[in-house]
Amino acid sequence: TPDVTPLVAGNWKMNGTRASLDQIKAMAEGVKGPLSEKVETLICPPATLLYVATALCDDSPLMIGAQDCHHKVSGAHTGDVSAEMIADCFGTHVIVGHSERRTDHAETDALVRVKAERAHEAELVAIICIGETADERKEGKTLDVLKAQLAGSVPDGAMAENTVIAYEPVWAIGTGLTPTAADIAAAHAFMREELKSRFGGEGATMRLLYGGSVKPGNAKELMGIANVDGALIGGASLKSEDFLAIYRAY
Ligand code: PEP
Repeated sequence: TPDVTPLVAGNWKMNGTRASLDQIKAMAEGVKGPLSEKVETLICPPATLLYVATALCDDSPLMIGAQDCHHKVSGAHTGDVSAEMIADCFGTHVIVGHSERRTDHAETDALVRVKAERAHEAELVAIICIGETADERKEGKTLDVLKAQLAGSVPDGAMAENTVIAYEPVWAIGTGLTPTAADIAAAHAFMREELKSRFGGEGATMRLLYGGSVKPGNAKELMGIANVDGALIGGASLKSEDFLAIYRAY
């Protein structure tokens, strides 16, 4: 998208111990340099590593975010993490509505939307994930699903500076499969039009990431598709060399 700074974001999921901080250190070093003025980078480690990770990135353009937040501000919600807690650890972003959370924790569009609102109140960028399942694709419902998920999961106050949409076909996550470039282009063009009609100029420049089996070998092709403003990367974000190779594909 013209005039939009792409974002290369990694989601570590439930992976990573203190030993993995070496990878974050290497990434923080690796993204220093002129390319960082053109491409933003973000790693979302597990919540246990958030605070230490942000300290390691003190003098690096690498940003650190979280993988989820609770939909309430605070209170009796054992085991959960609030958006404010993420911001307090110097996190800048939070992923909401990842398909694994929609599946494992039965998260609905309505819940994801409230989580994104909490993120915005805490001045975090919300990375809102949407995407069709294999069955929905087979039935030809992909664009209908994206329309409903955008309408349901994205809050009314969303702006380009605080909201990123990640299109992640569920069947492409962790499988090594990706849609064709034409299919991704069609999905992203559709999302762009939906966002423009709801948010006007903000929708025109809201970043649209592609996620699902992005690897060093396919990054250049995927990132070159119209309306693809970066990537959300699972498996290939765990190792600094893979993550940096994808970043350098720009
Ligand atoms: C993800 O979980 O957001 C993801 C895209 O995973 P992977 O890159 O491993 O397919």
